[in-house]
Amino acid sequence: MPNADFDVIVVGAGNAALTAALAARAEGARVVVVEKASQKLRGGNTRFSGGLFRCTYADLEDLIPIVRSHDNPDTVVADPYPRETYLRDLERVAGGRNDQELSTTLVDQSYDTVRWMADLGVPWEFNRAVGAVTVPGAAKVKLPLGGALRVKGEGVILSSALFRIAEEAGVSVLYETQALRLATANDGRVTGLEVRGPEGLNLLNCRALVLGSGGFQANPEMRTAYLGPAWSLVKVRGTRFNTGEMTREALARGAQSYGEWAGCHATPIDADAPIYGELRLTDKTNRLSYPFSVMVNLDGERFVDEGEDFNLYTYAKMGRIILQQRSATVFQIFDQKTVPLLETRYNTGSPVTADTLADLVDYIDARYRSLNIRKATMLKTLEEYNAAVADGVFNPDVLDGKHTNGLKPEKTNWAIRLDQPPFCAYPVSLGITFTFGGIRIDTNAQVVDYLERPIPGLFATGEITGGFFYSNYPAGAGLMRGAVFGRIAGQHASMLARGL
Ligand SMILES: Cc1cc2nc3c(=O)[nH]c(=O)nc-3n(C[C@H](O)[C@H](O)[C@H](O)COP(=O)(O)OP(=O)(O)OC[C@H]3O[C@@H](n4cnc5c(N)ncnc54)[C@H](O)[C@@H]3O)c2cc1C
Repeated sequence: MPNADFDVIVVGAGNAALTAALAARAEGARVVVVEKASQKLRGGNTRFSGGLFRCTYADLEDLIPIVRSHDNPDTVVADPYPRETYLRDLERVAGGRNDQELSTTLVDQSYDTVRWMADLGVPWEFNRAVGAVTVPGAAKVKLPLGGALRVKGEGVILSSALFRIAEEAGVSVLYETQALRLATANDGRVTGLEVRGPEGLNLLNCRALVLGSGGFQANPEMRTAYLGPAWSLVKVRGTRFNTGEMTREALARGAQSYGEWAGCHATPIDADAPIYGELRLTDKTNRLSYPFSVMVNLDGERFVDEGEDFNLYTYAKMGRIILQQRSATVFQIFDQKTVPLLETRYNTGSPVTADTLADLVDYIDARYRSLNIRKATMLKTLEEYNAAVADGVFNPDVLDGKHTNGLKPEKTNWAIRLDQPPFCAYPVSLGITFTFGGIRIDTNAQVVDYLERPIPGLFATGEITGGFFYSNYPAGAGLMRGAVFGRIAGQHASMLARGL
């Protein structure tokens, strides 16, 4: 092989790319990371994330060597999350369309990959914040099944820890450098990358290249083309830099297009959230306690079963459902029985409050006059909901089956009356998180063509890859997918580069 500037080039500087860079470096490769953002704005969606990783575990004992001294296991309980349950969750939320081989690799390597990251120096804690239910007065927090771990300090610390570890390991990072085109030899091997950096265009040579440049959710043109016109103006929850140009470039070089191109992860967020993610808010605009709410649209109607499942299994598709409502705006309404169950992220919002439901509807209308709210219908809907709630025991820890009778749609779990004032209404819209369609990889993270032959020297990981998620998504599987295949991509890219 001719001399190359680098053994391995990694495109992007999120969790997927940096785990690839670290794994390649650990195998002895000379690695450079090419990041489009400035040093100040580096880190992709990873930096905005809640840092939740979905991995398998047999019991709490399995989690202790990961969390180490960063947290106290005596304060939590965790039900086992075996591989069969993880596989079933991936399949269940994807309607069975997810790639079985890739899903199996993701699941089977999830626990080891989290331990590897802990060994590298990423700090972990028990996830008490997202999907965990702290029942007031209970001695211990029950960790959400599969979502028991998150990075201590969330995405901000995940990102800074990965950069620190990478820099200490001798990985160099080129900031404000956008990957444009792959360079290839006549035999199809990837030999380099054309970039546009602070000094203009440049060609970097390499022996292997890993794409970790994210999805295309921040590109309105691609959103419109693939997700549909309704997505043209939606808010983006995270980075503004994931605009899909390397997805297009890989496809142009023969990579197989894979997964649900019209699908994406989009969640309920504060209606007043900014157009792109802001690092002062990261993921704090999310509004995911809707299973304990009654959700109504501007026409005053309920439009979804708020209690279909735990929020970690419905939140990723809920954004799309909200997009279908007028002005993509709805209200989540709580009373004082459920307000204590709200995720702390609700603290960043400013709810409308009132002592009666009639006043609540009036105040919502007064604050959001331009939205032409049908307030008479809204009040009727809330009263009909209260009348339809069946008897039963409310238990936020389990699918309690406490339901309504005679509504369209019914609420099938956690249906309790709005009868303890003051009532609170949070204004909610949607934000897109990441896209599901992408390029196809094999279980060695090699990008494959339409005959499923690896494109020599080309690897990919993270949001740029397709085939994992369809219509919906189990929380924490995004970061886990990026890290599992990042580690694999780095190892294989390094082996290839060194002729092994
Ligand atoms: C608010 C929010 C909260 C989230 N919370 C969670 C969570 O708790 N758990 C979970 O599993 N997932 C979560 N996610 C999803 C998760 O963040 C992503 O799945 C994951 O971070 C994707 O990692 P990645 O490395 O593939 O992409 P990113 O982290 O987005 O990194 C992509 C990188 O590529 C760079 N880039 C793009 N194009 C180019 C180019 N042409 N040249 C050079 N560089 C380029 C970008 O600047 C960026 O640095 C969340 C996302 C958001 C927005």
